[in-house]
Amino acid sequence: MTEHVDGFFVSDKAAAEVFGAILGRGPISRSEVARLTGLSQSTITKAVKPMLAAGYLVEEREEAQGRGRPASPLRVSTDRHYAIGVKLSPHEIVAVVANPRAEVLASTRRGLPGRTVDDVTAEVASVVDELLGKQPEFSARVEGLGLALGGLVDARGTLCYSPLLGWRDVPLASMLEAATGLYTVVENDVNALAVEEQLFGAGRGVPTFAVVTVGAGVGCGLVVHGELVHGSAGMAGEIGHIALDPKGELCACGNRGCLETIASDRAILAAIARDGGPFLTSIAEAALLAREGNAEARAAFARAGEALGRALAILANLVNPSRVVLSGEGVIASDLLMDHLAEALDRHTFANVAGIPEIVTRPLSDETWAKGAAANVLRHLIARPLTNRPRARRAAAGT
Ligand SMILES: [Zn+2]
Repeated sequence: MTEHVDGFFVSDKAAAEVFGAILGRGPISRSEVARLTGLSQSTITKAVKPMLAAGYLVEEREEAQGRGRPASPLRVSTDRHYAIGVKLSPHEIVAVVANPRAEVLASTRRGLPGRTVDDVTAEVASVVDELLGKQPEFSARVEGLGLALGGLVDARGTLCYSPLLGWRDVPLASMLEAATGLYTVVENDVNALAVEEQLFGAGRGVPTFAVVTVGAGVGCGLVVHGELVHGSAGMAGEIGHIALDPKGELCACGNRGCLETIASDRAILAAIARDGGPFLTSIAEAALLAREGNAEARAAFARAGEALGRALAILANLVNPSRVVLSGEGVIASDLLMDHLAEALDRHTFANVAGIPEIVTRPLSDETWAKGAAANVLRHLIARPLTNRPRARRAAAGT
């Protein structure tokens, strides 16, 4: 790996911002990068130079308009540095090889053979081997492994707590580095999705926004002034466990009346059955029934939408995002949620109209989670000095 990254040294936030701007908007001129980031031309020149030398960026020649030097717009190279992104859910691994534009070059998915940490680590390593074998150039070009999963993850890649997997205090990043030989970044899945949205999606050019996912749970990734927010122990943005009804249903976390006990898929299905409606097994069935006019189903979605709106108002009052990207498997029912959500958000947000975030819905596939994990490790790779990275896979494998 070192042969094509010698001399690459980007350690400060400014350089990462420059790379992010070029990644999101390239081909782009240096002066446009300056305008987007608010950084000086000299800072940008300094940041760009080693990225060009390492091959992360390429320069395109363009004829100058009128007098002056050619503009030489910059873009991110898409064929030299790849990453593997893995989305780990309680039953399945979905994994992709992606380039820095988050374009998927290869993918795979497998059921999990077991739920112990060792089972899962071995299976992820096996998935990495499978993907690296899909193209001859992957072994040399894949530089990192990003893993995204539900739960609290600290800045060192330790999984502090995952209720869905039942794991606590697992040093997952270092275990996966040992098992795969790849530089590894472990991140909360919704945070990884927020990185994906920031670089390629509805978060582009939006300094302060939130990604809120609805589905098996309710998750939230926060980007404030361009930075992903983790909080002191990875818990920032856990809106799924805001207690909306102290006398409400028991939550998986042990408390009562959390947002998830009203707005998760399981909560909506349970509410329909509890109110005398049919027992259903999927949110798609429930949405269909509600659209056909079933009263219990419509009421369950209305309550979920209202609860989401109240939770988003709390988020708006605390963080004041200008946009909320609503995503996750549950957005297939957004038509049934949105009016109730918007009304509650409007009613409970403190300030005037300017304080109410714009809501954007984004459908989500399993691969998007994995792409987010890949985008997240690439973001770390470009912002992190080479000397601090573990040895590359081929070195670890002794070849
Ligand atoms: Zn809870």
